[in-house]
Amino acid sequence: MKTVTHWIGGKPFGDAAGDSGTWGPVTDPATGEVTTRVALAGADEVDAAVGAAKQAYATWRTSSLAQRIAILFRYRELLNARRDDLAALITAEQGKVHADALGEVARGLEIVELACGLGTALKGDTSTEVSGHIDVASIRQPLGVIVGISPFNFPAMISMWMFPMAIACGNTFVHKPSSKAPSASMLLAELAAEAGVPDGVLNIVHGDEIAVNALLDHPDVAAVSFVGSTPVARHVYSRASAGGKRVQALGGAKNHMLVLPDADLDAAADAAVTAAYGSAGQRCMAVSVVVAVGSTGDALVSRIAERAMKVTIGPGNDPASEMGPLVTKAHRDEVASYVARAAVQGADVVLDGRDFTVEGFENGHWMGVSLLDNVSTDSDAYRDEIFGPVLCVVRAGTYEEAMRIINGSPFGNASSIFTRDGGAARRFQLEVETGMVGVNVPMPVPVGYHSFGGWKDSAFGDHRMYGSEAVHFYTRGKVITSRWPDPAELAAGPDLGFPVTR
Ligand code: NAD
Repeated sequence: MKTVTHWIGGKPFGDAAGDSGTWGPVTDPATGEVTTRVALAGADEVDAAVGAAKQAYATWRTSSLAQRIAILFRYRELLNARRDDLAALITAEQGKVHADALGEVARGLEIVELACGLGTALKGDTSTEVSGHIDVASIRQPLGVIVGISPFNFPAMISMWMFPMAIACGNTFVHKPSSKAPSASMLLAELAAEAGVPDGVLNIVHGDEIAVNALLDHPDVAAVSFVGSTPVARHVYSRASAGGKRVQALGGAKNHMLVLPDADLDAAADAAVTAAYGSAGQRCMAVSVVVAVGSTGDALVSRIAERAMKVTIGPGNDPASEMGPLVTKAHRDEVASYVARAAVQGADVVLDGRDFTVEGFENGHWMGVSLLDNVSTDSDAYRDEIFGPVLCVVRAGTYEEAMRIINGSPFGNASSIFTRDGGAARRFQLEVETGMVGVNVPMPVPVGYHSFGGWKDSAFGDHRMYGSEAVHFYTRGKVITSRWPDPAELAAGPDLGFPVTR
């Protein structure tokens, strides 16, 4: 069995027998076999990682921007060369199909490339001669040790949303990946060391809430970036901010796709199937609810069902598979329980994926695609984030009724509208209460130079991930007012009035 331990000070931490002595299992979702044991950190390992990051900060913060960017360019090349290996690690522990895992790596690389161009984003502002012989400069400086905590569903991309920007800004980093899929983060750290990231600048501790709480409470941690479910995001935000840390905590989602009667229904059905069942629905940007307006419902549901039935499900490393298994057996069973309850709570079960299995992989965490029609907004399937291949269809008489449903959700991550009516699309963009909006685009994941994040219960804190907001989150501003008078003006005498411009 493979062993994954922490990465502290530029090398694996502890001996093969372990450090805290506590281990967790990592399962291959396609076979159900435990393939790896992962070390689970306690307070001592957390302290060692934060200590290494604190020590490295003293020199990394004063390294030149040119040196940091040269390292990031080398890192980008190494990641690009090893993208297949990274994708294979993602598939082996998270379960998603290889092509999808390659897409995840590509979207993570986008942020490393953004970090390579950080010189422009970090540039300050200067105003000269704001008053007699007085200049004002605004600069941004790093914060110190940053902690990143990430979920299982994007084992590489979400780490890459965080640490490349954080370290490019001059901070050092301690990453706590999901212990369900820890290996991709280790390869990311090894390649960072190979690219020249100095020891201690990027550290990894694996673990569960014990490790997370030790990180949130650590006095030497300046800021926390979190991505995961809403209850944990809320906990991380309140606990770390109560300790005076800067926190951004992105949570769960229930993303709605509104389809108006004038939409191209074939294109809308393609989009719904892509966005609902890709990665087995385990994406925070997955479409989990289609709101069919007016007369579209029947025609749309039959088109979605026709396409969904053709999705090829199998192990992620089989090139024929379009959708893989769910991450754990417990999660698979929970997802299945929503389909069972939906029928009792009045929905029409158009497609039921509960009995699906793959020949030769009977112990895998399989779930076929499920499609629920006429779902009530009071039902569990509508209200909760299911995070599996279950698409709910809700019917609405009018655009206004559809908007009341969408904006009534406590989540506010993303939404989309499918229509040919530009006026309706424009109105939707302005009225919908989500942080990311798609127009005829089902999963509007912003490109790297725009920022990513939701509203309401989908995000806590002020700054979003990547883009210019990451630069603001990972740095703090300083404004310098300086006066260099002519020597003859120096002895003008004291002036006890409040400084005004003149
Ligand atoms: P999770 O909240 O269970 O775990 C996220 C991280 O928190 C992991 O590192 C985990 O080890 C840690 N953690 C779990 N329970 C904890 C606890 N009680 N106390 C402290 N730490 C704890 O999320 P997950 O199941 O790994 O990932 C799926 C969730 O992440 C979904 O809700 C999904 O919508 C969300 N997600 C959100 C975004 C976004 O950008 N908003 C992106 C990806 C995933």
